[in-house]
Amino acid sequence: MCRLYVANGQDAGQMTRQLLEQIEIEQYIGENDSVALKPNLVVAKTFQSGATTNPDICAAVIEYLFERGRRNVSIIESSWVGEGTARAFKVCGYNDLAKKYGVELVDVKKDDMVECEYDGLKVDVSKRALETDYIINLPLIKGHCQTKVTCALKNMKGLISDKEKRRFHALGLSKPIAYLNKMICADFTIADGTCTDTTFEEGGNPTALNTMIAGSDSVLLDTYAAKMLGYCVSDVGYLKIAAEIGVGSSDLHSAQIVHINSEQKNVQVVRNGELEKAKALIRQDSACSACYSNLVSAMISTGADKQVRIGQGFREMTGEFGCGDCTKDFDDYVEGCPPSIEDIEKHLGKA
Ligand code: SF4
Repeated sequence: MCRLYVANGQDAGQMTRQLLEQIEIEQYIGENDSVALKPNLVVAKTFQSGATTNPDICAAVIEYLFERGRRNVSIIESSWVGEGTARAFKVCGYNDLAKKYGVELVDVKKDDMVECEYDGLKVDVSKRALETDYIINLPLIKGHCQTKVTCALKNMKGLISDKEKRRFHALGLSKPIAYLNKMICADFTIADGTCTDTTFEEGGNPTALNTMIAGSDSVLLDTYAAKMLGYCVSDVGYLKIAAEIGVGSSDLHSAQIVHINSEQKNVQVVRNGELEKAKALIRQDSACSACYSNLVSAMISTGADKQVRIGQGFREMTGEFGCGDCTKDFDDYVEGCPPSIEDIEKHLGKA
């Protein structure tokens, strides 16, 4: 039977340890196995923003593994297109973590790639990740302006090149994310909802869901996470496809949910009106995450009510106003690939 472990509380480091002690994860990891921790460091913002993984979670996993003789541990990640992973490691507290525990930080943007394939889709995947014996995924239970939810399955996108990330958006995100998890899937996931933005992957509206979820089935875990954010499987394209192609099970009714410290509390997710207004003004076609997210941020901060087109689908097309180099043939557009929030704000009328 598939099983998920749920911890309630606010101390992410302590809850991580409680989960690991309950699960005894070391039974699945050989003494000489290489272990890669895969946080979500999509942007260079501290975890208090609700955008990135709390380093206390990584620290708790490292300490737990070290105490049980599993010392071959690294941290692997690549931030989104337009953000330097090295900057994110530094700002998010991972340089200090690496120094303290003597673990390696692996920047996937600098890694060699290996072509993998599932059902005709070829994707270049990080060689280092593929060669790792055991991947522990450490995502947030977070909202996403395009896919609605980002958690375990989508966090694996940090193990491909920037070129592939752009292509994923051109392919509509859902199918490539699901297929990627057929090529490389986390062995275990601990997802954090103690400080997360339930509306936006770039953070800014941190919310305490007081929950962490752990399990080995990424689909099951994401189904639970989606439910917490007010969505069902059919609302989240990649989740539906991942269940259909057998990455895991979305059947929460047949799963065993183990509450390790208290009963799960219902979570009331409040939708952000400003975000919804901005999204209603944007027409996107295959827009990269950073590009889209920067535009949404700028629309919210300026209160713009202008219609904007964005994305790779608008290349070589004409139009009134676009965002990003993909819309360079428009009458007016914001330069950059992706353009910065500040540049978009200036263009929208805020100096
Ligand atoms: S301009 Fe934006 S949507 Fe186009 S490729 Fe660059 S980042 Fe992606």
